[in-house]
Amino acid sequence: MLLFRDSVTRKSRNRFPDLLAFPFARDIVPGRMNEPTDGTFQKLHELAQNLWWSWQPDIRAIFREIDPETWSLVYHNPVALLQRVSQEEIGRRVQDLEMQTRINQAHRRLQSYLHGGESWGMVHAGPILARPVAYFSAEFGLHQSLPIYSGGLGVLAGDHLKSMSDLGAPVAGIGLLYHEGYVHQLIDENGWQQDLYEPIATPELPVEPVLVGEDGAQARFSVELPGRDVFLKIWRVRVGRSDLLLLDARDDANSADDQALTARLYGGDQETRIQQEILLGVGGHRALGVVGIKPSVLHLNEGHSAFALLERGRELVEEQGLEPSEALREVAAMSCFTTHTPVEAGHDRFRADLASSHLEALARGLKMPIDEVMALGSEHPGDPNAPFCPTVLALKLTRRANGVSALHGRVSRKMWQGLYANKTEEEVPIGHITNGVHVRTWMAADMYSLLLQHLGPRWLDRISHADLWTRIDRMRDAELWEVHQVLKARLFAFARRRLADRRERLGLARPEREPLDPEALTLGFARRFATYKRADLLFQDLDRLDRLINHPERPVQIVYAGKAHPRDTGGKALAQRVANLEKDPRFAGRIVFIENYTMHVARQLVQGVDVWLNTPRRPLEACGTSGQKCILNGVLNCSILDGWWAEAYDGGNGFAIGNGEIHADPEVQDERDAQALFEVLEREVVPLYYDRHANPGAQSVPHRWMARVKRAMRTLAWRYNADRMVMDYVRECYLPAAGGDTCRMPPA
Ligand SMILES: *Cc1c(COP(=O)(O)O)cnc(C)c1O
Repeated sequence: MLLFRDSVTRKSRNRFPDLLAFPFARDIVPGRMNEPTDGTFQKLHELAQNLWWSWQPDIRAIFREIDPETWSLVYHNPVALLQRVSQEEIGRRVQDLEMQTRINQAHRRLQSYLHGGESWGMVHAGPILARPVAYFSAEFGLHQSLPIYSGGLGVLAGDHLKSMSDLGAPVAGIGLLYHEGYVHQLIDENGWQQDLYEPIATPELPVEPVLVGEDGAQARFSVELPGRDVFLKIWRVRVGRSDLLLLDARDDANSADDQALTARLYGGDQETRIQQEILLGVGGHRALGVVGIKPSVLHLNEGHSAFALLERGRELVEEQGLEPSEALREVAAMSCFTTHTPVEAGHDRFRADLASSHLEALARGLKMPIDEVMALGSEHPGDPNAPFCPTVLALKLTRRANGVSALHGRVSRKMWQGLYANKTEEEVPIGHITNGVHVRTWMAADMYSLLLQHLGPRWLDRISHADLWTRIDRMRDAELWEVHQVLKARLFAFARRRLADRRERLGLARPEREPLDPEALTLGFARRFATYKRADLLFQDLDRLDRLINHPERPVQIVYAGKAHPRDTGGKALAQRVANLEKDPRFAGRIVFIENYTMHVARQLVQGVDVWLNTPRRPLEACGTSGQKCILNGVLNCSILDGWWAEAYDGGNGFAIGNGEIHADPEVQDERDAQALFEVLEREVVPLYYDRHANPGAQSVPHRWMARVKRAMRTLAWRYNADRMVMDYVRECYLPAAGGDTCRMPPA
């Protein structure tokens, strides 16, 4: 086993800042905060404490310029930056007039963002949604410096909070503060993924204790687990105008084991898992009360937080004296549920004995017999040994449920039809709202500026209007191509640094040829290494892959990244196949694997490659949001017709792999899809990219390619963004739920 601390030199740590969020986290003494002495420092501090900076490139630039080296070392985390750079040094950096002005302006912009005039939310959600939506999620991906996410589900939750903030729709996110975060990935000399967890230091995170009472102590409360109470502290993260509450079991009153309940995202066994889910659901709902929030709507992002529904029911029974059935009807009326995957393993199924012992306290409070509570989470209510499934609980106790793409809506109706005895598949009350991404988080600043010129200064406010995007065609191909080349060069520099770091760590020799050819068509593939995503689809025919990659005039290269869940041996084997192909002389430097996939790595990739590959085994990709991040960066999607791509592809705005056919035998399907992937690459993608009038170099613009890039922007950008998604949630879920409207969302 390769140990991080023995194998990474201090030097390469400096050059590898985001492998671990906080390489020196243990040295930090809590509370050692530089006291602001003047207005400027106070302003910097306020800017750092609101994650709004993370989608404001000019504010990121201010922090970076204060101390570029430390900025990189602390993983682009301004809270940590302000603690590590001495006050005198900061004073020196910010004393010139220009810097002072930039800080003042940034601070004024933050104030007007927070308190500014009329918002979409005020106009369209107004008094009905006066009280916040409580948005529960086991993970939130807001920025790489807050490592409490594992993949798309978390990033979606982060993007949701950001867009709710931008639109001025009130929301309180609720999650857990995992104090060891999610796993870090190191690839060892055998290409095998080593899993690493590192404690994260709360004082260096953009989190603040929620203070209550006269003494201003940190808010804490308890949740009952079998045989004991577990105490939770509450932290707040400011995400623009949105708040995220995070619960933390590191309380002196808890045993060491109980404190570890909030250590790791998706760590531990079934017992840890159900206890985490109780802390998230029951604890999360209770936390709202502790901080004085009375939510208008409960939105469960995936089933992990489903116990919140029982807790709300218990409250109604105990505090308002409702009958249990009446209470649960009321809970359902105010609640929405989003299911995120058709993959079986994505739905917890807790052993009946484990679930019933954990639900006894809630059943007592609800004044319901335990078997009736158990039946709410069962697909076979008559069977006392049937496992308890939180997804089932969420479907039964929310009036509005949705999948995350049109196809996933259909798949979910089929998957859960058994719960609705007298309904046909079409009548199953699960609709869909297709995911979207938070544009300012994912779009390169250079591209944003380019669009400002062509779409006008307030284009972002009108992003969801299809008519805005017709103006894209006014942009000259060469301008767009030029910006893309800059982003591509930036990705290559980043990738080479990361590859060199791994080589150094493993003591490997320098490769003969420099990794990544600046002129070559570059494909990107990065996501969780779950087996259904088939990172190895191209490896079915290595000779054909060799011909594709090493074509003398039209070379191709592929950048991979992705973590497997620590217990997913199949996923780790996939990562190993990629890592080992890197060593194959035929592919050296042309197939590269960047270890430790994070939001930071994701941003480099979706901005810098030419084509984004997506190869899930249809219909298992519920949506797949990474390809949406590419749209406004001028990167084309090449994807199986699954998830969002099944509804987004129009024949000319990217590339389709195959025709959406499903085969009963997954091996046959994989074989066919691999053929289809080679075909589309060989016949469409490669020829189009290298179709240049003048010469084949990067200086000459491939006009037919650029036409497709523009078409992708024109047809996709207005729809697959998080503002449109949030507007859909407000209109189709939140307003009816907040207004007590009892009609169900119609299936699409
Ligand atoms: C966007 C994103 C994902 C989601 O990728 P999919 O295409 O939905 O699988 C996963 N991880 C990170 C870090 C991301 O930024």
